[in-house]
Amino acid sequence: MINPYKDSPRPEPEEIERRAELLRIAFAEDYERSARGEKIRPRLGDVMSIQYMRERQTLSFVLHPELKEIAYEIGYGIGKDICSEMIKGKTLPQIMQSNQPIAEGISYAFEEIVEADEKHAVYRHYECADCYGLPDIHDKVCVYEAGVAAGMFSEALGKQCRVTEQKCCANGDPYCEFLVEVMD
Ligand SMILES: [Zn+2]
Repeated sequence: MINPYKDSPRPEPEEIERRAELLRIAFAEDYERSARGEKIRPRLGDVMSIQYMRERQTLSFVLHPELKEIAYEIGYGIGKDICSEMIKGKTLPQIMQSNQPIAEGISYAFEEIVEADEKHAVYRHYECADCYGLPDIHDKVCVYEAGVAAGMFSEALGKQCRVTEQKCCANGDPYCEFLVEVMD
């Protein structure tokens, strides 16, 4: 394979942050647009098949497991950014309750809260867009979900939270299960 992206140059840190900030602003506007019932793309709309997205994502993690650490951090930043004022100041069980319908609302998964107290929570995703129907590859691949949840819960609680996927359809389990731990 001749890879035209080999040794891609890395811009200066300030330039990377400037680009990331432009994207954060654009993504926030996308959410506002969606909330108003407007489409991001005028003709095709905002819904597409999950196949292509999860194909490239899952193969990324399987072929390059070191990307999981980066994906968790990227997800964490996304979660922090999309954390709404509405869930700030709430307890972890209250946050879990108010977030519960979101996954289904965006057709990502059916979410079930298994347990939740001030220090920890367990929730499950059924028919997860990232992993449902994949073969058992002895891996847990819903890393972005874990990172996004961790960033959102940490921002909402003002305390560091860690989220780890304990069960996953790519690991032979019938659903994904995530453990939320409040670390401080
Ligand atoms: Zn999963």
